[in-house]
Amino acid sequence: MSELQTDVDLQPHNTLAVPARARFYARVTDAAQLPEWLEFAQANSLPLLLLGGGSNLVLREDFDGLVIHIGLHGREKISEDREHVWLKVAAGENWHKLVEYTLEHQYWGLENLSLIPGSVGAAPIQNIGAYGVELQDVFESLEALDLVTGERMQFDKDDCAFGYRDSLFKHEGRDRYLITSVTFKLFKQPHLKISYPSLREELKAIPVSELTPVEVSQAVCRIRRSKLPDPARIPNVGSFFKNPVIGLTQFLELQILHPGLVSYPVDARHVKVAAGWLIERAGWKGASRGPVAVHSEQALVLTNPGHAMGAEVLALAEEIRHSIASEYGIDLEPEPRVY
Ligand code: FAD
Ligand code: NAP
Repeated sequence: MSELQTDVDLQPHNTLAVPARARFYARVTDAAQLPEWLEFAQANSLPLLLLGGGSNLVLREDFDGLVIHIGLHGREKISEDREHVWLKVAAGENWHKLVEYTLEHQYWGLENLSLIPGSVGAAPIQNIGAYGVELQDVFESLEALDLVTGERMQFDKDDCAFGYRDSLFKHEGRDRYLITSVTFKLFKQPHLKISYPSLREELKAIPVSELTPVEVSQAVCRIRRSKLPDPARIPNVGSFFKNPVIGLTQFLELQILHPGLVSYPVDARHVKVAAGWLIERAGWKGASRGPVAVHSEQALVLTNPGHAMGAEVLALAEEIRHSIASEYGIDLEPEPRVY
């Protein structure tokens, strides 16, 4: 059994740097240790918090349960054919380090997802996405432990019910499965996806025929560094709200009132609206409430430079939510999980 710690400071383990403590904490580096910890939690009626890089959660207060910090490591090429390679990666591996590893080995497909913080095991939870690519585009399957039955499970792509920043693991599967590994299906030949506007703009000096996946990754890193606060210096959890997807009728009505509304078609009856635009237009960009602020470069990001409590961050988020609901009739949904 790995070591059990009590009354542990979780501030270094969440990128929003909110001060909160865990009643019990264990870092798990071997999947064989998991059943014992699950029994311990069950025997003591403790709620569980599965922790990866802590970059997509908000701790409202101290956690009166057991935090299992996923420290499972390892990457293995399990199969290949002429076009693809299948790579199985343990849940505790750092996401961006995985991207770098695939680039070094010329396994292509993850380049647009460069520099996303967090762990491999958390990536399927919200089907991470950026610059026109989502996890589901390179996903083959995952392995997980069923926290109710103790069974080891395998999920393929259809089982995961991936959607826009969404999956089974945010709904029926919420708090039910501990993901232990993810298997990716990557390409041996480049399949560049550079239609996302800011990426195309960043790469415009290089003729498309000469572009490589490494250059795409570097361009994504440059854009991200110029726009997004580095959590190591300015604590944040990335986008605080999901981009709302609304019905066409509501969209057309809104567009009359707000002709500059930034939006993207989803299907014949739905439109995705840029939440950052709504928040900026409602006057929130750069605003602050004590030690919590709306980032001055991207209004979708809340920052916590003063290391305020989670409840203070959530209070600002709630104020913004009310403001957007009354201004545009749109209910913003927070993206990070709140504990
Ligand atoms: P955590 O915050 O540790 O956990 C998040 C949730 O997943 C929790 O509910 C946790 O219990 C659960 N979980 C974690 N690991 C497991 C596991 N092994 N099994 C079961 N449940 C688990 N997201 C994007 O989609 N696209 C982006 O471009 C993006 N950019 C970001 C930029 C910044 C600066 C920041 C701070 C965040 C960004 N994010 C982005 C959000 C975040 O990085 C991702 O959602 C990431 O996948 C979270 O990983 P994590 O390991 O930190 O998860
Ligand atoms: P941006 O380029 O300023 O664009 C604003 C929003 O418009 C994005 O959220 C994006 O939606 C949407 N968008 C832009 N072009 C689009 C297109 N051609 N088709 C469909 N939707 C389009 O966004 P940004 O803030 O700099 O972020 C860049 C990328 O990184 C985005 O993909 C964003 O999701 C991702 N990111 C995510 C987080 C997070 O925490 N979740 C944090 C930082 C960045 P999408 O979000 O659907 O792409």
